[in-house]
Amino acid sequence: MNSPLIGVLSQNQQEHALIKENRRRVIVIGGGPAGLMAAGQAAEAGADTLLLEKMKRTGLKLCITGKGRCNITNIVEISDFISHFGKTGPFLRQAFARFFNTDLMEFFNELGLELVTERGGRVFPASGKAPDVWKVLLQWNKKSGVRIRHSAPVDTIVTHNECITGVVSQGREVPCDAVILATGGVSYPATGSTGEGYRLSESAGHTVIPARQALVPLETAGDEAKKMTGLNLRNVNTRMLINGRKKREQFGEVVFTEFGITGPSILTLSGDAVDGVRKGHTVSLSIDLKPALDEKKLDERLQRDIVSRGKEHMGSLLRGLVPREMVPVCLNFINVPGDRMACNISAKERRRLGAWLKDFRLEVTGYRPFAEAIITAGGIDTREIDPRTTESRKTKGLFIAGELLDIQGDTGGYNLQAAFSTAWLAGRSAANIT
Ligand SMILES: Cc1cc2nc3c(=O)[nH]c(=O)nc-3n(C[C@H](O)[C@H](O)[C@H](O)COP(=O)(O)OP(=O)(O)OC[C@H]3O[C@@H](n4cnc5c(N)ncnc54)[C@H](O)[C@@H]3O)c2cc1C
Repeated sequence: MNSPLIGVLSQNQQEHALIKENRRRVIVIGGGPAGLMAAGQAAEAGADTLLLEKMKRTGLKLCITGKGRCNITNIVEISDFISHFGKTGPFLRQAFARFFNTDLMEFFNELGLELVTERGGRVFPASGKAPDVWKVLLQWNKKSGVRIRHSAPVDTIVTHNECITGVVSQGREVPCDAVILATGGVSYPATGSTGEGYRLSESAGHTVIPARQALVPLETAGDEAKKMTGLNLRNVNTRMLINGRKKREQFGEVVFTEFGITGPSILTLSGDAVDGVRKGHTVSLSIDLKPALDEKKLDERLQRDIVSRGKEHMGSLLRGLVPREMVPVCLNFINVPGDRMACNISAKERRRLGAWLKDFRLEVTGYRPFAEAIITAGGIDTREIDPRTTESRKTKGLFIAGELLDIQGDTGGYNLQAAFSTAWLAGRSAANIT
């Protein structure tokens, strides 16, 4: 907490008073989940902490997470958790060892936020309201003595002999002993995440792995997806093929849109799809609409249906196999008119139907812009960051937390936990207490 004297002094006088008090001055750049966690931790650990947020208020993205419900973490155990970050996971081991999912849940409980765990181990606030997560974080920051300045973009990080000495915001230099950079990635830029941290970190000697969309809806060829806009398929298995070879598969939900396909399974597969498209590979999706039946069992089921419902039109028979919106798409693929009597389809046509149900193909032609990407892949190269503290190996006193780092997790609460864990470590390390 500030000493009572400091409250009545001018900014310059305050800074001199703090130097005399011998408290570490920490500046946190960015008031997203990472910045708020880092600032609160630094202040609780005794540092004089100033959070500079360029937007009119903090936590804009946090408040829209999890479809407005905020999936704060996941209860899976640590190695499983790390595997959800692919190649970028191992960097997080140290941060998770210090502050992991149960610690985060306890932390929020202590702040008075009740939590619930849902299907797939996903943890949400019991109120179902993401802004409640932001509110308790903000209250805790204020209680811990963090000074927050809104509409205060940081333009420059000031260093001397590869050591942090301050930052420049709105033309004014603010001196400090440590900076925590928590400016996020470039997705949903309207929330304030516009990638300024890349430039700031490059100025401090860092390498930035090029940013690209991840957890992003995909665009597909043809008009099949468009014809089925809004259709939500649950319990289907989706395989992603790169140049015809299976790269990854995901069981769950897909949703058709005007431009292509989205939904939890697609978002999970999208990182590899984006990389494939960027490299000029042929990327396609193969959706198994009947994953519970192998080809033989499915064919037996089709034969039974055709015998028992032979007098019906194919259009009507198909409605028992796929959602209504898919029927015209299916008839078109198998090249059978909808008014053909089911008993009149040939064995070859029946097998074509079975093959389509097991392998509904969509060619991926592209992906949606950053404005629609849940997270940003790429960011500050983690090899240049000490994973035990999150301190830069290039500039002393510079700490990095959250999505600005080159880490990317699946959907399911993984990304927020990574932001909170790296920020916990950054805040305490910057305050010199770890
Ligand atoms: C629609 C959506 C839903 C999501 N749902 C979930 C979910 O349910 N669970 C989950 O785990 N993850 C979810 N995510 C991902 C998660 O929100 C992010 O990973 C997380 O917000 C990253 O936190 P951060 O603090 O690193 O960055 P951000 O949240 O991006 O915050 C960065 C902050 O820095 C500020 N800033 C930027 N530049 C400057 C500057 N120069 N000076 C001062 N301030 C600056 C920005 O204004 C912003 O406030 C979702 C993302 C989106 C877009």
